[in-house]
Amino acid sequence: MRLNGRRKSSNVDDRRGAGGGMKAGGLGIGGIVIVALITWFMGGNPMDVLQNVDPTALTNVTERPGNGQQFSQEEEELAEFSKQILAGTEDIWSEIFRQNGMEYQPPKMVLYTGSVKTACGNGSASMGPFYCSGDQTVYIDLSFFLQMKRNIGADGDFAYAYVIAHEVGHHVQYLLGTLDKAHSQMARLSQEEANKVNVRLELQADFYAGVWAYHDNKQFNSLEEGDVDEALDCAKKIGDNYLQEKARGYSQPETFTHGTSAQRKHWLSLGISTGDVSRGDTFSVSESAL
Ligand SMILES: [Zn+2]
Repeated sequence: MRLNGRRKSSNVDDRRGAGGGMKAGGLGIGGIVIVALITWFMGGNPMDVLQNVDPTALTNVTERPGNGQQFSQEEEELAEFSKQILAGTEDIWSEIFRQNGMEYQPPKMVLYTGSVKTACGNGSASMGPFYCSGDQTVYIDLSFFLQMKRNIGADGDFAYAYVIAHEVGHHVQYLLGTLDKAHSQMARLSQEEANKVNVRLELQADFYAGVWAYHDNKQFNSLEEGDVDEALDCAKKIGDNYLQEKARGYSQPETFTHGTSAQRKHWLSLGISTGDVSRGDTFSVSESAL
């Protein structure tokens, strides 16, 4: 991506090293990462995930820097990058909301290491990036991006931007009332049926990430050759079927919460190619057309 000179969001609260600094005891770094990827990409409702975090898994003090310590240059660059991407989502969604006669209230972003307190409960790095509507905040432990690369080979700055824009997509859903509506619907359904609603939420967040990318590129000329392929490759690798097959050799469609590789690619690329929010009603299309 071309981001030179782009502004950084002021809605970022950098709490890295501020008292979190835990890792999953016994799991080791590799374990934590697989859990993070699986939780992030397959975890379903972030509120559920937050309530389901096993506190006993958080034990040892991290090997990563604590208060006052330096982070690697790679991680510092990712922090700057995340602030720039968030700023881009603020500009783009403010304009889209304005065009539709609404006002966009941007989310906050908290950068943390290890574990974090949120209005939705305690969060941890093992969950991967998540959005909490209780405090309208996107939470990210930046080590997730490094692990995306190492563990599923999903690499490249635009793939990382897609992850951030996807979480911001959940904030857009919150502002539009879609998130609360879907969650109250899910509360009344069986797990299997609730999963299907969750898939629609997730695919729409992918679509919104694509809509952001379309407009960000139009306004700032931010996409470079290969960027779209990077994000589509990432979308493929975080499909429920792909991750489940990778993790255990087979997949169970009734447990899918985020959509298949093909579905995620489809909605992300529809957003990227059209930039048209009105095309993203994942709730009104039939299951076979998702
Ligand atoms: Zn999501």
